[in-house]
Amino acid sequence: MAEQPITAMDVSTAETEAAGLRVQLNQWRKDYYDNDAPNVEDDIYDRNYARLVALEQAFPQLITPDSPTQLVGGTVKAGFTKVQHEIPMLSLGDVFSQAELQEFNDRLVQNVGEPVDYNCELKIDGLALSLRYENGVLVQGSTRGNGTVGEDITKNIMTIESIPHQLTKPLTIDVRGECYMPKAAFAALNERREAAGESVFANPRNAAAGSLRQLDTKVTAERQLSTFMYNIADYEPITARTQSDMLTEFADLGFTINPAFKVAHSMDDVFQYIDHYQNERPDLAYGIDGIVIKANPLPLQRQLGATVKVPRWAIAFKFPPDEQPTLLKDVEWTV
Ligand code: NAD
Repeated sequence: MAEQPITAMDVSTAETEAAGLRVQLNQWRKDYYDNDAPNVEDDIYDRNYARLVALEQAFPQLITPDSPTQLVGGTVKAGFTKVQHEIPMLSLGDVFSQAELQEFNDRLVQNVGEPVDYNCELKIDGLALSLRYENGVLVQGSTRGNGTVGEDITKNIMTIESIPHQLTKPLTIDVRGECYMPKAAFAALNERREAAGESVFANPRNAAAGSLRQLDTKVTAERQLSTFMYNIADYEPITARTQSDMLTEFADLGFTINPAFKVAHSMDDVFQYIDHYQNERPDLAYGIDGIVIKANPLPLQRQLGATVKVPRWAIAFKFPPDEQPTLLKDVEWTV
């Protein structure tokens, strides 16, 4: 059925539609975040989410605390110790066209009063994790969870090769990034599972999440997970003053960073970066579902801050769905 134009709606019709979307989206979120077993393709989720955002923008009185537009991620899985994130792990606002990206930039420039340099990064298709180091020693790993409370996955992350147990400097820091399963590891894992008569994973993101959120760390160790770090909870302990320099500093400290980042001095640079990686996407060794642009100066990031859900200094440009369907009908979803 065609969607009713929002401009022609009265509040009670909008309320009914918004309530239905909240229930549907929250069920999909539970499948995706809590059970690592999504039931719909991401673009269907995204379309329904965008409709709810549009309804809430037109009728702000309809926003409820349990609306997916106000929530980050999922809940802590049974068996895991909870970890409190003093500085929340957030989501990202997203856009689906260059015009929307331009609008984001125009709003930001108007707010800041001058042009903004962006650090362009690949949006890695995995799950967020946080690593805590005390005096340079790795002491804790955690998932994002609902943004303020995540899962303690310290034993699991100790098995991931790309994560340094000791930094090159004795810093006390919380560094954040993405845990992912390389495409080759994903294909090999599914081949082995198929040969053993086991159900296969439907996509690398689901496989990475299911492999990291494991009570049996032996399973995590076998799954060849990897990481790219790109963010920090508190900028204080590092010397870098830009996002791009921070990534270089992370690499010097011993972290694995994604090398494909680039500073853009104009929106044309940003659009070129998008085009380039949209073409490169099939040849990359890992999945990406878009690119992220981040205001490059760290003081500006700090000044702009965040809403309850997303930073104001960054936005994700989402690629159109992969041509290859991920939600194969005969695939059983496995964790
Ligand atoms: P998101 O995945 O759209 O974006 C935020 C996340 O991007 C961050 O938390 C981080 O983990 C990741 N990221 C990757 N590379 C990054 C980089 N370079 N810099 C910063 N962050 C980077 O947001 P989300 O809240 O994690 O998930 C929402 C999305 O998940 C939806 O848009 C939808 O596509 C999908 N989803 C799907 C279903 C489903 O049923 N299919 C359900 C819920 C959510």
